[in-house]
Amino acid sequence: MKIRDILDTSRKAFPSLEIVPPLKGITHNELIESVRPFMEFCPKYINVTCHRDEYEFREEADGTFSRHLVRNKVSEVAVCSAIMSAYRIDAVPHMICGGNTADEIDNKLSDLKFLGIENIMALRGDCTVGEKRFVPSEGGYRYANELVEAICAFEKGADLFSIGVGGYPEKHFEAPNIETDIENLKRKVDAGADYIITQMFFDNRVYYDYVDRCRKAGIEVPIIPGLKPLTTARQVSLLPESFSIDIPVELTSEIRAAGNDREAVYRTGTDWCIAQCRDLIAHGVPAVHFYTMGKAENILRILRECF
Ligand code: FAD
Repeated sequence: MKIRDILDTSRKAFPSLEIVPPLKGITHNELIESVRPFMEFCPKYINVTCHRDEYEFREEADGTFSRHLVRNKVSEVAVCSAIMSAYRIDAVPHMICGGNTADEIDNKLSDLKFLGIENIMALRGDCTVGEKRFVPSEGGYRYANELVEAICAFEKGADLFSIGVGGYPEKHFEAPNIETDIENLKRKVDAGADYIITQMFFDNRVYYDYVDRCRKAGIEVPIIPGLKPLTTARQVSLLPESFSIDIPVELTSEIRAAGNDREAVYRTGTDWCIAQCRDLIAHGVPAVHFYTMGKAENILRILRECF
Protein backbone atom coordinates (compact mmCIF):
# COMPACT_ATOMS: atom_id res chain seq x y z
CA MET A 1 0.00 0.00 0.00
CA LYS A 2 1.20 3.51 -0.66
CA ILE A 3 2.14 5.53 2.46
CA ARG A 4 0.02 8.45 1.24
CA ASP A 5 -3.04 6.14 1.37
CA ILE A 6 -2.05 4.88 4.82
CA LEU A 7 -1.78 8.49 6.02
CA ASP A 8 -5.07 9.44 4.35
CA THR A 9 -7.03 6.61 5.94
CA SER A 10 -5.53 6.31 9.41
CA ARG A 11 -7.58 7.86 12.21
CA LYS A 12 -5.00 8.02 14.98
CA ALA A 13 -1.27 8.43 15.35
CA PHE A 14 0.70 5.29 14.55
CA PRO A 15 4.39 4.41 14.96
CA SER A 16 6.75 3.88 12.06
CA LEU A 17 10.30 2.63 12.36
CA GLU A 18 13.55 3.25 10.61
CA ILE A 19 16.26 0.64 10.57
CA VAL A 20 19.78 0.54 9.18
CA PRO A 21 20.60 -2.44 6.92
CA PRO A 22 22.67 -5.04 8.77
CA LEU A 23 26.25 -5.90 7.95
CA LYS A 24 26.80 -8.48 5.24
CA GLY A 25 27.06 -12.03 6.53
CA ILE A 26 23.74 -11.93 8.37
CA THR A 27 21.35 -14.65 7.24
CA HIS A 28 17.86 -13.96 5.92
CA ASN A 29 16.44 -15.62 9.03
CA GLU A 30 18.57 -13.55 11.42
CA LEU A 31 17.39 -10.37 9.73
CA ILE A 32 13.74 -11.39 9.98
CA GLU A 33 14.16 -12.33 13.66
CA SER A 34 15.86 -8.99 14.44
CA VAL A 35 12.73 -7.15 13.28
CA ARG A 36 10.22 -9.54 14.89
CA PRO A 37 10.04 -7.78 18.33
CA PHE A 38 8.59 -4.69 16.62
CA MET A 39 5.78 -6.69 15.03
CA GLU A 40 3.94 -6.79 18.36
CA PHE A 41 3.07 -3.13 17.65
CA CYS A 42 1.86 -3.75 14.09
CA PRO A 43 3.94 -1.02 12.43
CA LYS A 44 2.31 -0.02 9.15
CA TYR A 45 5.70 0.28 7.49
CA ILE A 46 9.42 0.14 8.15
CA ASN A 47 11.94 2.48 6.53
CA VAL A 48 15.34 1.13 5.58
CA THR A 49 18.21 3.60 5.23
CA CYS A 50 20.52 3.61 2.28
CA HIS A 51 24.27 4.12 2.38
CA ARG A 52 26.57 5.40 -0.24
CA ASP A 53 29.07 2.95 -1.70
CA GLU A 54 32.63 3.50 -0.64
CA TYR A 55 35.79 2.75 -2.54
CA GLU A 56 39.21 1.68 -1.38
CA PHE A 57 42.51 1.52 -3.20
CA ARG A 58 44.52 -1.71 -3.00
CA GLU A 59 48.14 -2.06 -3.94
CA GLU A 60 48.76 -4.68 -6.62
CA ALA A 61 51.86 -6.91 -6.91
CA ASP A 62 53.32 -4.59 -9.60
CA GLY A 63 53.08 -1.55 -7.31
CA THR A 64 50.06 -0.01 -9.05
CA PHE A 65 46.82 0.70 -7.18
CA SER A 66 43.39 -0.57 -8.16
CA ARG A 67 40.05 0.86 -7.04
CA HIS A 68 37.56 -1.50 -5.35
CA LEU A 69 33.95 -1.02 -4.39
CA VAL A 70 33.46 -1.72 -0.67
CA ARG A 71 29.92 -2.49 0.42
CA ASN A 72 29.74 -3.80 3.96
CA LYS A 73 25.97 -3.74 4.39
CA VAL A 74 23.13 -5.72 2.86
CA SER A 75 21.34 -3.47 0.36
CA GLU A 76 18.27 -1.53 1.51
CA VAL A 77 16.23 -3.02 -1.32
CA ALA A 78 17.09 -6.60 -0.29
CA VAL A 79 16.17 -5.80 3.33
CA CYS A 80 12.84 -4.21 2.27
CA SER A 81 11.99 -7.17 0.11
CA ALA A 82 12.76 -9.65 2.92
CA ILE A 83 10.64 -7.70 5.46
CA MET A 84 7.72 -7.34 3.06
CA SER A 85 7.55 -11.02 2.25
CA ALA A 86 8.04 -12.18 5.85
CA TYR A 87 5.56 -9.84 7.56
CA ARG A 88 3.24 -8.64 4.80
CA ILE A 89 3.81 -5.01 5.79
CA ASP A 90 5.23 -2.23 3.66
CA ALA A 91 8.89 -1.37 3.69
CA VAL A 92 10.28 1.90 2.41
CA PRO A 93 13.76 1.95 0.91
CA HIS A 94 15.64 5.24 1.14
CA MET A 95 17.10 6.42 -2.14
CA ILE A 96 19.84 9.03 -2.44
CA CYS A 97 21.12 11.23 -5.26
CA GLY A 98 24.74 10.82 -4.09
CA GLY A 99 26.76 8.30 -6.10
CA ASN A 100 23.99 7.65 -8.64
CA THR A 101 23.57 8.77 -12.23
CA ALA A 102 20.06 9.39 -13.55
CA ASP A 103 20.25 6.05 -15.42
CA GLU A 104 21.21 4.20 -12.24
CA ILE A 105 18.25 5.75 -10.45
CA ASP A 106 15.98 4.59 -13.29
CA ASN A 107 17.35 1.04 -13.00
CA LYS A 108 16.75 1.07 -9.24
CA LEU A 109 13.17 2.23 -9.82
CA SER A 110 12.65 -0.69 -12.22
CA ASP A 111 13.85 -3.08 -9.51
CA LEU A 112 11.46 -1.58 -6.97
CA LYS A 113 8.57 -1.93 -9.39
CA PHE A 114 9.54 -5.56 -10.05
CA LEU A 115 9.61 -6.29 -6.30
CA GLY A 116 6.23 -4.64 -5.67
CA ILE A 117 7.74 -1.85 -3.56
CA GLU A 118 5.43 1.17 -3.82
CA ASN A 119 7.19 3.63 -1.53
CA ILE A 120 10.44 5.57 -1.55
CA MET A 121 12.07 8.03 0.84
CA ALA A 122 13.89 10.42 -1.53
CA LEU A 123 17.01 12.15 -0.21
CA ARG A 124 20.06 13.90 -1.47
CA GLY A 125 22.51 12.08 0.82
CA ASP A 126 25.55 13.55 2.54
CA CYS A 127 29.07 14.24 1.31
CA THR A 128 31.50 11.37 1.16
CA VAL A 129 34.47 11.33 3.54
CA GLY A 130 36.91 14.02 2.45
CA GLU A 131 34.33 16.14 0.57
CA LYS A 132 33.44 19.57 1.99
CA ARG A 133 30.35 20.09 -0.15
CA PHE A 134 28.02 17.58 -1.73
CA VAL A 135 29.16 16.72 -5.26
CA PRO A 136 26.53 15.11 -7.50
CA SER A 137 27.53 12.27 -9.83
CA GLU A 138 28.05 13.30 -13.41
CA GLY A 139 24.62 13.01 -14.98
CA GLY A 140 23.06 12.66 -11.52
CA TYR A 141 20.89 14.87 -9.32
CA ARG A 142 22.11 17.75 -7.16
CA TYR A 143 19.08 18.19 -4.89
CA ALA A 144 16.38 15.90 -3.57
CA ASN A 145 13.65 17.85 -5.44
CA GLU A 146 15.28 16.69 -8.70
CA LEU A 147 15.18 13.09 -7.49
CA VAL A 148 11.50 13.47 -6.57
CA GLU A 149 10.82 14.82 -10.08
CA ALA A 150 12.65 11.85 -11.62
CA ILE A 151 10.67 9.34 -9.54
CA CYS A 152 7.40 11.02 -10.52
CA ALA A 153 8.40 11.03 -14.21
CA PHE A 154 9.37 7.33 -14.16
CA GLU A 155 7.46 5.30 -16.77
CA LYS A 156 5.83 8.41 -18.16
CA GLY A 157 4.43 9.51 -14.82
CA ALA A 158 2.70 6.19 -14.07
CA ASP A 159 2.43 7.15 -10.35
CA LEU A 160 4.06 3.95 -9.13
CA PHE A 161 5.46 5.29 -5.87
CA SER A 162 4.45 7.33 -2.84
CA ILE A 163 7.35 9.59 -1.94
CA GLY A 164 8.58 10.84 1.44
CA VAL A 165 11.24 13.54 1.88
CA GLY A 166 13.33 14.88 4.77
CA GLY A 167 12.61 18.11 6.69
CA TYR A 168 14.79 19.90 9.25
CA PRO A 169 13.01 21.67 12.13
CA GLU A 170 16.37 23.11 13.21
CA LYS A 171 17.38 23.92 9.60
CA HIS A 172 19.56 21.84 7.30
CA PHE A 173 23.14 22.73 8.15
CA GLU A 174 23.91 24.05 4.65
CA ALA A 175 20.89 26.36 4.37
CA PRO A 176 21.55 30.05 5.06
CA ASN A 177 18.36 30.37 7.15
CA ILE A 178 15.22 28.42 8.02
CA GLU A 179 13.06 30.41 5.57
CA THR A 180 15.24 29.42 2.61
CA ASP A 181 15.35 25.83 3.81
CA ILE A 182 11.54 25.74 3.96
CA GLU A 183 11.35 27.24 0.44
CA ASN A 184 13.57 24.36 -0.68
CA LEU A 185 11.40 21.89 1.21
CA LYS A 186 8.42 23.24 -0.71
CA ARG A 187 10.23 22.51 -3.98
CA LYS A 188 10.24 18.82 -2.99
CA VAL A 189 6.53 18.88 -2.19
CA ASP A 190 5.71 20.78 -5.38
CA ALA A 191 7.74 18.18 -7.29
CA GLY A 192 5.45 15.43 -5.95
CA ALA A 193 6.46 14.42 -2.40
CA ASP A 194 3.48 13.11 -0.41
CA TYR A 195 4.80 13.61 3.12
CA ILE A 196 7.76 14.82 5.14
CA ILE A 197 9.68 13.03 7.90
CA THR A 198 11.67 15.33 10.13
CA GLN A 199 15.19 15.08 11.39
CA MET A 200 15.30 14.09 15.06
CA PHE A 201 14.65 16.84 17.62
CA PHE A 202 14.50 16.85 21.42
CA ASP A 203 12.30 19.87 22.05
CA ASN A 204 8.75 19.55 20.70
CA ARG A 205 8.34 23.33 20.53
CA VAL A 206 10.88 23.30 17.71
CA TYR A 207 8.69 20.86 15.75
CA TYR A 208 5.43 22.76 16.38
CA ASP A 209 7.06 26.00 15.28
CA TYR A 210 8.42 24.30 12.16
CA VAL A 211 5.01 22.90 11.23
CA ASP A 212 3.51 26.42 11.62
CA ARG A 213 6.18 27.93 9.39
CA CYS A 214 5.71 25.18 6.76
CA ARG A 215 1.94 25.68 6.73
CA LYS A 216 2.40 29.44 6.33
CA ALA A 217 4.76 28.72 3.41
CA GLY A 218 1.99 26.72 1.71
CA ILE A 219 3.22 23.20 2.52
CA GLU A 220 0.13 21.12 3.19
CA VAL A 221 1.35 17.50 3.27
CA PRO A 222 1.70 15.54 6.56
CA ILE A 223 4.86 16.35 8.52
CA ILE A 224 5.81 13.29 10.56
CA PRO A 225 8.02 13.95 13.57
CA GLY A 226 11.18 11.84 13.79
CA LEU A 227 12.37 10.84 17.29
CA LYS A 228 15.46 9.17 18.61
CA PRO A 229 15.96 8.38 22.30
CA LEU A 230 19.36 9.29 23.71
CA THR A 231 21.16 6.15 24.84
CA THR A 232 24.63 7.26 25.99
CA ALA A 233 26.11 10.37 27.60
CA ARG A 234 28.45 10.79 24.63
CA GLN A 235 25.48 11.42 22.34
CA VAL A 236 24.93 14.75 24.09
CA SER A 237 27.89 16.04 22.08
CA LEU A 238 27.85 13.56 19.17
CA LEU A 239 24.27 14.13 17.96
CA PRO A 240 24.52 17.93 17.67
CA GLU A 241 27.79 17.49 15.78
CA SER A 242 26.47 14.83 13.39
CA PHE A 243 22.95 16.14 12.82
CA SER A 244 23.16 19.90 13.52
CA ILE A 245 20.53 19.76 16.24
CA ASP A 246 20.27 21.13 19.79
CA ILE A 247 19.90 19.14 22.97
CA PRO A 248 17.79 21.12 25.49
CA VAL A 249 19.47 22.27 28.72
CA GLU A 250 17.03 20.23 30.86
CA LEU A 251 17.93 16.98 29.08
CA THR A 252 21.65 17.76 29.17
CA SER A 253 21.42 18.41 32.93
CA GLU A 254 19.49 15.20 33.54
CA ILE A 255 22.05 13.19 31.60
CA ARG A 256 24.86 14.91 33.48
CA ALA A 257 23.16 14.14 36.80
CA ALA A 258 23.11 10.45 35.87
CA GLY A 259 26.92 10.61 35.81
CA ASN A 260 28.66 7.33 35.01
CA ASP A 261 25.56 5.26 35.60
CA ARG A 262 24.92 3.98 32.07
CA GLU A 263 21.59 2.49 32.93
CA ALA A 264 20.40 5.77 34.42
CA VAL A 265 21.51 7.63 31.27
CA TYR A 266 19.68 5.11 29.07
CA ARG A 267 16.56 5.39 31.23
CA THR A 268 16.68 9.19 31.18
CA GLY A 269 16.94 9.23 27.36
CA THR A 270 14.07 6.77 27.02
CA ASP A 271 11.84 8.66 29.51
CA TRP A 272 12.49 11.94 27.68
CA CYS A 273 11.47 10.34 24.39
CA ILE A 274 8.30 8.88 25.96
CA ALA A 275 7.32 12.36 27.20
CA GLN A 276 8.01 13.83 23.74
CA CYS A 277 6.01 11.11 22.03
CA ARG A 278 2.98 11.45 24.35
CA ASP A 279 2.93 15.20 23.86
CA LEU A 280 3.16 14.85 20.05
CA ILE A 281 0.28 12.37 20.01
CA ALA A 282 -1.78 14.70 22.21
CA HIS A 283 -1.13 17.44 19.63
CA GLY A 284 -2.61 15.25 16.88
CA VAL A 285 0.45 14.28 14.82
CA PRO A 286 -0.36 11.76 12.09
CA ALA A 287 2.44 9.33 13.04
CA VAL A 288 5.69 9.20 14.99
CA HIS A 289 8.80 7.96 13.24
CA PHE A 290 11.50 6.30 15.34
CA TYR A 291 15.16 6.19 14.39
CA THR A 292 16.01 2.81 15.92
CA MET A 293 19.72 2.88 15.01
CA GLY A 294 20.08 -0.81 15.76
CA LYS A 295 18.57 -0.51 19.25
CA ALA A 296 15.32 -2.33 19.97
CA GLU A 297 14.82 -2.36 23.76
CA ASN A 298 14.34 1.36 24.33
CA ILE A 299 12.10 1.73 21.27
CA LEU A 300 9.99 -1.23 22.40
CA ARG A 301 9.49 0.38 25.81
CA ILE A 302 8.49 3.68 24.18
CA LEU A 303 6.02 1.90 21.88
CA ARG A 304 4.57 -0.03 24.81
CA GLU A 305 4.02 3.16 26.84
CA CYS A 306 2.74 5.40 24.03
CA PHE A 307 0.72 3.31 21.54
P1 FAD B 1 17.90 18.52 -0.09
O1 FAD B 1 16.44 18.62 0.12
O2 FAD B 1 18.41 18.39 -1.46
O3 FAD B 1 18.57 19.73 0.67
C1 FAD B 1 19.97 19.83 0.84
C2 FAD B 1 20.38 21.28 1.04
O4 FAD B 1 20.22 21.99 -0.19
C3 FAD B 1 19.51 22.05 2.04
O5 FAD B 1 20.33 22.97 2.70
C4 FAD B 1 18.46 22.75 1.19
O6 FAD B 1 17.98 23.95 1.79
C5 FAD B 1 19.24 23.03 -0.10
N1 FAD B 1 18.41 22.89 -1.30
C6 FAD B 1 17.50 21.93 -1.55
N2 FAD B 1 16.98 22.06 -2.80
C7 FAD B 1 17.60 23.13 -3.35
C8 FAD B 1 17.51 23.77 -4.62
N3 FAD B 1 16.69 23.31 -5.57
N4 FAD B 1 18.30 24.87 -4.85
C9 FAD B 1 19.14 25.33 -3.89
N5 FAD B 1 19.26 24.77 -2.67
C10 FAD B 1 18.50 23.67 -2.39
N6 FAD B 1 21.15 10.18 4.31
C11 FAD B 1 21.59 9.05 3.74
O7 FAD B 1 22.71 9.05 3.17
N7 FAD B 1 20.86 7.89 3.76
C12 FAD B 1 19.64 7.82 4.36
O8 FAD B 1 19.01 6.77 4.37
C13 FAD B 1 19.13 9.01 4.98
N8 FAD B 1 17.91 9.01 5.58
C14 FAD B 1 17.41 10.18 6.08
C15 FAD B 1 16.10 10.19 6.61
C16 FAD B 1 15.54 11.38 7.09
C17 FAD B 1 14.14 11.37 7.64
C18 FAD B 1 16.31 12.59 7.06
C19 FAD B 1 15.71 13.86 7.59
C20 FAD B 1 17.61 12.58 6.56
C21 FAD B 1 18.17 11.39 6.06
N9 FAD B 1 19.45 11.35 5.50
C22 FAD B 1 19.92 10.19 4.92
C23 FAD B 1 20.32 12.52 5.56
C24 FAD B 1 20.23 13.41 4.31
O9 FAD B 1 20.67 12.71 3.18
C25 FAD B 1 21.12 14.63 4.56
O10 FAD B 1 20.58 15.41 5.61
C26 FAD B 1 21.44 15.49 3.36
O11 FAD B 1 22.48 16.42 3.72
C27 FAD B 1 20.28 16.35 2.83
O12 FAD B 1 19.34 15.54 2.24
P2 FAD B 1 17.94 16.17 1.73
O13 FAD B 1 17.25 15.12 0.99
O14 FAD B 1 17.24 16.82 2.84
O15 FAD B 1 18.53 17.27 0.70
